[in-house]
Amino acid sequence: MYDRLYKGEMKRRVLIVDDEYINRELLGNMLMNDYDVIYAGNGQEALDAISESNEKISLILLDLMMPVMDGFEFIKRYNEDPKLSAIPIIVMTSDADSEAEIIKAGAVDFIKKPYGMPEVILARCDRIIDLFEKQQLIDSTQIDELTGLYSKEYFYEYIRQIRDSGFVDEVAMDAVSLDIEHFHLINEIYGHDEGDFVLKKIADIIEKTIEHRIGIACRADADTFYIYTDSIDDYQAFLDSITTEMDNVGYAPANIRLRMGINESIDDDETPQSIFEHARLACNQIRGDYVNQIGFYDSNLHDEQIYNEKLITDIDQAIKDKDFVVHFQPKYSIQHGDPILTSAEALVRWNHPTLGMISPGKFIPLFESNGLIQKLDEYVWETAAYQVSRWRDKYGMTIPVSVNVSRIDIYNPNLVDTLVGIVDRYGLKTSELYLEITESAYSNDAARLVEVVKNLRDKGFEIEMDDFGTGYSSLNMLTAIPIDALKMDMSFVRNMLKDDTSLKLVELIIDISRFLDVPVIAEGVEEQEQLDTLKELGCDIIQGFYFSKPVSAKDFEEFIKG
Ligand code: C2E
Ligand code: CA
Ligand code: CA
Repeated sequence: MYDRLYKGEMKRRVLIVDDEYINRELLGNMLMNDYDVIYAGNGQEALDAISESNEKISLILLDLMMPVMDGFEFIKRYNEDPKLSAIPIIVMTSDADSEAEIIKAGAVDFIKKPYGMPEVILARCDRIIDLFEKQQLIDSTQIDELTGLYSKEYFYEYIRQIRDSGFVDEVAMDAVSLDIEHFHLINEIYGHDEGDFVLKKIADIIEKTIEHRIGIACRADADTFYIYTDSIDDYQAFLDSITTEMDNVGYAPANIRLRMGINESIDDDETPQSIFEHARLACNQIRGDYVNQIGFYDSNLHDEQIYNEKLITDIDQAIKDKDFVVHFQPKYSIQHGDPILTSAEALVRWNHPTLGMISPGKFIPLFESNGLIQKLDEYVWETAAYQVSRWRDKYGMTIPVSVNVSRIDIYNPNLVDTLVGIVDRYGLKTSELYLEITESAYSNDAARLVEVVKNLRDKGFEIEMDDFGTGYSSLNMLTAIPIDALKMDMSFVRNMLKDDTSLKLVELIIDISRFLDVPVIAEGVEEQEQLDTLKELGCDIIQGFYFSKPVSAKDFEEFIKG
């Protein structure tokens, strides 16, 4: 609202594309007060309307099924024309299942038909327009203010120009993506000024390094740099020279580790965006790899990308067909006599019709990277709640189940309502669904998380901080975030009997849990000796293959019967 006033008298222009008169009118009426609305009856008319419009169009609301030119064809044309694709599209559809497909095709959002509350629709339009305008504002600047390198958009544009000029026709060019291992740590420990300083230095060194080559560089975002250069024979030497320069600078965080992804001898037909996405992918591939600092985009990565795209395309159908199965792994309380079953963790698997059983490690990070995780998680939560209610009816007792809440879910404004709705639907108490939130979510946006966690706890949900010890929560933060249990990351248990440091860390984590006055859960316990040690150290709850692997709901009943 405030934004609209601020922008003064001029209403932004919105184009509604729908073949049905009644739909156009309905939507048009909702938007008319706030926007200057124009209409088109199909894709072709929309193209005409855009080229004829004497004013900038800020948003397209697009129907999919239309005669002459349908929405899909329109989106195709739209993607081919940079002028068109500067306008955001919201697709209007009655088929919510094609959501993933629509977003993948290039729309930014969608509105379900029949239309819901006008305020909601208006708010959505407002938000999308704002986002796009902000984005364009940023894009329009050519230079990254902090580092003085090119901005990403300009960098891409420059590459197009270089290619068009024919200058590199005979030259083998590579795309390099470079970033800093654990950059956020530098920010956290040394402060943002120091972080900025490091980024500036790296930018300077990159510029110097490519000075005598055919090459240009940009800061793509945060701590990622892109370099477009004629092929370098020895990338390790190239990286080492950058690292040596960095070490000579003498800033506070010594021993910065860089990571590089390379897409070699790139194809002229591929867009700059795509070649650098591939380089970045190669770079991400070696994240956390302490041996290799350089990754190459190769056929394996290419295959993996195709595999991932298939998973993205298939998710909607899989939910519909119930191909996602939820398994349960028991948690036992061990401090008082014989182990007692206290709860279970719900863990999802994908029983794919052609690819077979897929483990969550393959698709969860993927779905987290594009937001699709939200609908999968909702499905898992619902399935878990249903199962708890089934067992309650059958055995006359409630086995609380913990579900995983992805860090992405934290940004869902409906999170609390969704969870409360699910619990209500199956007649459960909120205290019977535990929520596991990974520690890294806590370090990313602590303020937001504290708020969400507080709201969830107010409703009665129990919060377990998952993978504890892998994130970087400070003790201060831990005391600020209300939680009900700490789940120690599996790596500590795995190494506890092998090295002393891990054992000390296990002790420390148990101490922290005492300090916070919450129980500590150890997962990944496989052996008797691990269990005995943990018990002695005062660990409260154990989960792991020692008791059982995650099993189907049916098999889990054996543990309930005891
Ligand atoms: P997590 O939340 O840390 O889950 C524990 C993982 O450790 C599970 O792997 C479990 O099968 C495995 N595990 C349990 N005990 C042992 C043991 O004794 N030894 C070993 N080696 N492994 C053990 P899984 O099922 O492959 O899940 C991997 C990760 O995927 C989970 O890690 C979680 O982060 C994510 N995930 C699984 N289901 C969901 C879900 O429904 N939603 C979300 N957002 N994430 C999920
Ligand atoms: Ca978990
Ligand atoms: Ca975990």
